[in-house]
Amino acid sequence: MKYTVTLIPGDGVGPDVVEAARRVLEATGIEFQWEVVNAGADALEEEGSLLPERLFESIKKNKLALKGPTTTPIGTGFRSVNVALRKTLDLYACLRPCRSYAGIPSRYENIDIVVVRENTEDLYAGIEFEEGTPEAEKVLSLISQSTTEKIRKDSGISLKLISETGSRRIVRFAFEYARANSRKKVSAVHKANIMKFSDGLFLNVARDVAKTYPEIEFEDVIIDNLCAQLVQQSRQFDILVLPNLYGDIVSDLCAGLVGGLGVAPGANIGNEEAVFEATHGSAPKYTGLNKVNPVAMILSGVMMLRYINERAAADRLEAALVETLAEGKSVTYDLKPGRGAANAVGTSEMADAIIARLIS
Ligand code: NAD
Repeated sequence: MKYTVTLIPGDGVGPDVVEAARRVLEATGIEFQWEVVNAGADALEEEGSLLPERLFESIKKNKLALKGPTTTPIGTGFRSVNVALRKTLDLYACLRPCRSYAGIPSRYENIDIVVVRENTEDLYAGIEFEEGTPEAEKVLSLISQSTTEKIRKDSGISLKLISETGSRRIVRFAFEYARANSRKKVSAVHKANIMKFSDGLFLNVARDVAKTYPEIEFEDVIIDNLCAQLVQQSRQFDILVLPNLYGDIVSDLCAGLVGGLGVAPGANIGNEEAVFEATHGSAPKYTGLNKVNPVAMILSGVMMLRYINERAAADRLEAALVETLAEGKSVTYDLKPGRGAANAVGTSEMADAIIARLIS
């Protein structure tokens, strides 16, 4: 079977890491047809749009996309290519496995945590009112009619919206993932003691959903406590399910536990489509240098293979990657002791080393 996949090179380091991932995926022997459609700063320059309509058409048709990071221009009023993509395609689950591999320098060992982040609501819903505008004044006056709390008139407003529907589907996703991958525990993360009607709703729904998965352990953890526990006793966690903002922050924290952004993969998954992309951004200062670590993007490709049920190919690719990392010879600068050591290889040479193991 041949899979048609939308390939989004992105910008900054995107094209380098996406090309590395594309080549190793092809070396597994699985057949792909790549439909290249860009998004982000390069697409803006080439096609006049950060998110060309044909990108959505392509992803909707193919159901699968491999995406490089894209730069979010600052001060243009444009929120983010990623947020727009996730919202438009309703890619409600952001899946970010964080796992320790031998050969990746880190303060911690044997971490194996999966972060499941809600991707469409919370403070990321994008409903904001700028301080001092008539719209903000209108909202503030409406709020002051229903509360005795004093609100400063010069406040900016970002709405935190958490729904029962959004919470139920993300918690279910976490439990289904646990079941399908023989994981033991799901921890729902919140601040329900303070935000009773948003995080409180998320927590109530999580407790309710947990009852339908009696074979999987369930607990809830308050977000600040989780951060301390992750640093001190991270091995107690298995799957974390979180509303959008906490999920964003905690997935970077967990990436830090396993060696940094260069090795943290991810996927944005909806009912129909799935977009696979590294957690890291476009790291603009390394643009075109063939320097950064392709591991996060390659592991995102491994996730894509598992998603399409090509498990044997996924296992072989992961094994080739693990061996390359453990040997530590053909790896990028960030994986060398002291970072930036002279004998590091480039992005594409690291991909070559993985391919050599795959086809040997
Ligand atoms: P970043 O992840 O691009 O880079 C931060 C630092 O992390 C880099 O300077 C580099 O030292 C390190 N790093 C990142 N990726 C690496 C890799 N593969 N190998 C080795 N080291 C790596 O974060 P930033 O600088 O905050 O963001 C740059 C741009 O990327 C911004 O415009 C931001 O909006 C965007 N961004 C995009 C995505 C996405 O497309 N999914 C995600 C995050 C940030």
